[in-house]
Amino acid sequence: MTIPIDPVQLTKELVRMNTINPPGHEESCARHLGALLENAGFRIRYHSYGETRVNLVASIGGTSSKPPLCLTGHIDTVPLGAAAWTMDPFAGDTADGKLYGRGTSDMKCGVAALTVAALNSARFLHSTAGVTLVITAGEETGCEGAFHLQRDGVLERAGAVVVAEPTSNYPFVGHKGALWLRAKTRGVTAHGSMPEKGVNAVYKAARAVSQLEAFRFENPPHALMGQATLNVGTIRGGLNINSVPDEAEITIDVRSVPTVDHANLIQTLALQLGPDVELEPLMDLEPVYTDASDPWMQTVFEVMTPLLGERPQSRVATYFTDAAALNLAYRNPPTVILGPGEPQMAHQTDEYCTMQRVGVAVEAYEQIIRRWCSA
Ligand SMILES: [Zn+2]
Repeated sequence: MTIPIDPVQLTKELVRMNTINPPGHEESCARHLGALLENAGFRIRYHSYGETRVNLVASIGGTSSKPPLCLTGHIDTVPLGAAAWTMDPFAGDTADGKLYGRGTSDMKCGVAALTVAALNSARFLHSTAGVTLVITAGEETGCEGAFHLQRDGVLERAGAVVVAEPTSNYPFVGHKGALWLRAKTRGVTAHGSMPEKGVNAVYKAARAVSQLEAFRFENPPHALMGQATLNVGTIRGGLNINSVPDEAEITIDVRSVPTVDHANLIQTLALQLGPDVELEPLMDLEPVYTDASDPWMQTVFEVMTPLLGERPQSRVATYFTDAAALNLAYRNPPTVILGPGEPQMAHQTDEYCTMQRVGVAVEAYEQIIRRWCSA
């Protein structure tokens, strides 16, 4: 008889390992979780894509007839920020039902909860569809770890995905996609006193910015997510005040909805901006969306109704998740974003999670696992 692991205690252990990304150093967290899971009979695979950058894939059970359920979370965190913390970000201190530290809500408490739920379920999972845990590094810098897993063919299959990102245990049915682009313009430099001898790349970039400000999406809005958005985030160009700039660059952040095709959108933008503007994708994450009428999503809603004290409504998260990368490999199975962290605490100074919610998430994940593996 093994002693059950306390998910709050496991969260503290993970928070005490500094995995601020950059640089990440996720290996200690991945190995700590891997050791626990291996002890419980999981097949463990560590997948590195750089020094101390380690993803963990842990599986148990599995049959040929039904694919496993995937539960996923990331173990890197964002930096501490400029403002001073009043709590120690790496001590795992608690007060008033809250556990403080960088990454508590986003999303070490979610990783701890899904790990404990999997450990508690392990002995029931042999000869069932089974469970695959995908614990990723490098999520905060554009789902790097998940994309490495996808590109290297490490992910096999999954019939449904639970993403344990912070939702205060409310099940979200999806999130917008993100398409980040760099737009470059080129010119010919000349002395600033003779601009007629040069071609000014900043003027070209300025025209592009004005066109982007006026850009309107032609696709129909999505019923739940509304319309896509576009924002010019940065502009940079020129070497000094007394030269005609021969290079300028802007970056564009598109948050897309399921009715936007990314490849088409890039073509449309390229056409509107014209041949003077070179467009290059920096990050390409598809939206994630499962209609609430999907039978598995209905099961998740049923599980959550007594735990939340209300029947969940169709809602979407404001942030993007690793599911955008994983679902390329898994071919878009139904996906829910559901985790015990507080979404408004993500990336904040004095980040905390609510300890009571961590136990509730364990209960929810265990029920979702049981229903998947008994059907
Ligand atoms: Zn996160």
